[in-house]
Amino acid sequence: NESILVNNVDGRCFYFDETTSTNAFLLGHTSELKSGDICIAEYQSAGRGRRGRKWLSPYGHHIYASMFWRLHSDISKASGLSLVVGCSIVKALSAFGVEGLGLKWPNDIYLEHKKLAGILVEIAHSSAQQTELVIGFGINMSMSAEQGGLIDQPWSDLSSLMSMPDKTELLIQLHKTLKTDLQLFEQKGLGAFLDRWNKYDLFANRDVSLIMAPNCVNGICRGIDDQGALLLETDQGIKRYLGGEISLRAA
Ligand code: ATP
Repeated sequence: NESILVNNVDGRCFYFDETTSTNAFLLGHTSELKSGDICIAEYQSAGRGRRGRKWLSPYGHHIYASMFWRLHSDISKASGLSLVVGCSIVKALSAFGVEGLGLKWPNDIYLEHKKLAGILVEIAHSSAQQTELVIGFGINMSMSAEQGGLIDQPWSDLSSLMSMPDKTELLIQLHKTLKTDLQLFEQKGLGAFLDRWNKYDLFANRDVSLIMAPNCVNGICRGIDDQGALLLETDQGIKRYLGGEISLRAA
């Protein structure tokens, strides 16, 4: 499958009808990439989620996209990045009048309490001076019951909206918003996103379980700190947990 390369003033877009994974494509070409370059596909044969899980990526006008970004700092700063991307996607969707959106720490976007979109940030290279990242996201536009039947958790799509956003316009908005937000993140850190996160945080002040197989910790979700760690109120006080292998569930 050959990509079509579209050059524009804001960077390059590698467009595929079909690919394994848009993240995998960019990860294989990092030496040629500039911040803001993106890869878009109509279908992914091996779309991926965290820890080897799969992102179901059928044909059907859904969004499967990844963007390359070079952070001018070491890897420690990348810890809160999926939260920034979540805030950014919510902002872009809101610009099209989408309501009922929510964020689930650390990497999911919900619509009406069902999963609409997923984010996967992968590190390509890192040094003391810079960290190269591939930021992938999938958004369900209009999923058939047959396609959705393959997903093993409640899902949603944008088909119930009064007017469905045009896919190209939504992609342009997502790209623009992401670039602006990543620049803001580089200048001001995650602190600049706390208000946005708190506004959309689905689990704020709710009883939750944090699953860190084989262990599980229960507590009340008290938002995030400026490193992107989840703050959990437990019997021993507030504890902080950083992404990685942790999954959040309603208790
Ligand atoms: P976590 O809470 O740990 O992030 P998760 O189950 O949401 O758990 P992810 O890695 O974020 O895991 O996403 C992969 C999961 O998302 C899959 O295991 C599946 O349950 C679900 N999923 C896969 N494809 C889709 C899709 N197109 N739309 C909605 N949900 C999907």
